[in-house]
Amino acid sequence: MQYYVNFLNDVKREMIYHTLENPKLECGGFLLGHLNINNEKTSCEVEDLYYERRCGTDCEFRFGLSYLIRALKEAETKELELLGTYHSHGQYPATLSYIDHHNLQYYLGLNKVTMVYSPAYSQLLGEFLNDKGVSNRVKILTRY
Ligand SMILES: [Zn+2]
Repeated sequence: MQYYVNFLNDVKREMIYHTLENPKLECGGFLLGHLNINNEKTSCEVEDLYYERRCGTDCEFRFGLSYLIRALKEAETKELELLGTYHSHGQYPATLSYIDHHNLQYYLGLNKVTMVYSPAYSQLLGEFLNDKGVSNRVKILTRY
């Protein structure tokens, strides 16, 4: 199985701009779109974002339940699926931390993606938690 996150280019740019508003502090939001799973490929087609302008610390961002509920409502209104989350890593590289794996991935559950962007390193990466609870690195694509 190959895992992909396929961004509309404007949406990827908006996500990165959001993280650059406070490049030293973590911030985060949600990826909306459609999830396509077939025999050999799982693809998160990202078409929109939901985010609020609030920041965490230099090394932590807490999503919380109320933020998730507002994102789910937005997804429902737009007839999109909530595909997963993104958050920034400020001055640190874009790697999924212990907290990202053990708290954030399980915050949304299975068949969801977790993206991390590092403003300092201009790095974007993501992992998809599949239906067996295994986290897999995604290939990132952009479409216009
Ligand atoms: Zn993180």
